[in-house]
Amino acid sequence: MALIVQKFGGSSVANAERVMNVASIVADTYNAGNSVVVVVSAQGDTTDDLLDKANEINPKHSKRELDMLLSAGEQISIALLAMALEKLGCPVISLLGWQAGFNTNKNYTTARIKKIDTERVSSELDNKKIVVVAGFQGINKYDDITTLGRGGSDTSAVALAAALHADKCQIFTDVEGVYTTDPRKVPNAKKLQEITYDEMLELATLGAQVLNNRSVEMAKKYHVELEVLSSLKRVPGTIVKEATTLEKMLIRGVTKDSHVARVSVIALPDTPGIAFKLFSKLAAKNINVDIILQSVGRDGTKDITFTVDKDNAEHAKSAVLEAFPNMTDENFVIDSDIAKISVVGAGMETHPGTASQMFEALFEAGINIQMISTSEIKISVLVDAKDADKAVHAVHNEFFSED
Ligand code: ADP
Ligand code: ASP
Ligand code: MG
Repeated sequence: MALIVQKFGGSSVANAERVMNVASIVADTYNAGNSVVVVVSAQGDTTDDLLDKANEINPKHSKRELDMLLSAGEQISIALLAMALEKLGCPVISLLGWQAGFNTNKNYTTARIKKIDTERVSSELDNKKIVVVAGFQGINKYDDITTLGRGGSDTSAVALAAALHADKCQIFTDVEGVYTTDPRKVPNAKKLQEITYDEMLELATLGAQVLNNRSVEMAKKYHVELEVLSSLKRVPGTIVKEATTLEKMLIRGVTKDSHVARVSVIALPDTPGIAFKLFSKLAAKNINVDIILQSVGRDGTKDITFTVDKDNAEHAKSAVLEAFPNMTDENFVIDSDIAKISVVGAGMETHPGTASQMFEALFEAGINIQMISTSEIKISVLVDAKDADKAVHAVHNEFFSED
């Protein structure tokens, strides 16, 4: 007998039929003699709908009240799934995040899990109950409900699996596993049997929505082996695990991230300490910077260009203006019509031609590269938003075409 944590995303519980389908997967696992903890997300587009409702009433709502609202989505799902399991004759109990012991830091809407008190869940399991837990939520030191950020139910599931020392953590979703790129956008994307934590972390951070990046970080830290699989088709999925037993692949996947903006700061003084002044200001404002490019100094000035999350572009400009009060609008060019296309694979570390192969594919597709950044296991390029899908296809074809 094993202890298994199963997580089901929003589309897997979108309507009554889907909820019954999930219940039958859970019941089969339980009836096979396992202890089962289930983590669920809000149904379908519920979280987006709740956000719209909040903005309709008051776009300047407080984050505390937003968390109170958004957490209701998962509350609906746990109760419905528990009722579905009752219908199948299974002993079951649903628990909200705080009832399941999820303690978070105080940050509303982007809370981080600090610890999970597992007593309640463990005692329900001891009583042979299936425990259905609301994902994406916890409680902070003020006894207020918090949420973990979009896609946070994956993190709830992995954290619970780690805290309970579960034998398995299965992430059920609406595709059959992790693919070489988004299978909904690129029909010849291939399902991966296995992927390392590090590669999955890069893919998730660079735009592959299938797993939330914090969940992968946590899985790696606590050695929780994950399986990503379909809730609709009972076939093996993708295993996410340590690198040791995994064959290195040159490229494991291709991603697109459209949530980026490029900020150019023009005609900064070409003197020492300028980059330090600029980026320390951004850091102090908690603005995450990704790709950085500095031009060669000329006539006493230089330009610095960097990318940030789209939502942070204007904050970044204000921060730079604080650091350099003599600058004006003329010194800035902000472009939000861009996308970051990346290839990820541990094999590229020992294979020098990968970057040029990617650039050639983009050249042949007539796509201009604006910026480039690389690490040991990834190469990212910035392109015009209008070219983004074409770029994903071209790069994916280059590395994964049949012939
Ligand atoms: P859930 O509601 O189950 O959490 P998500 O919508 O968050 O599901 O994530 C699943 C989606 O991720 C898929 O429908 C797919 O379109 C998208 N996706 C993006 N990149 C990938 C990838 N490399 N492999 C699999 N799915 C991907
Ligand atoms: N319901 C939340 C969201 O839509 C959490 C999740 O689905 O993981 O972001
Ligand atoms: Mg998700």
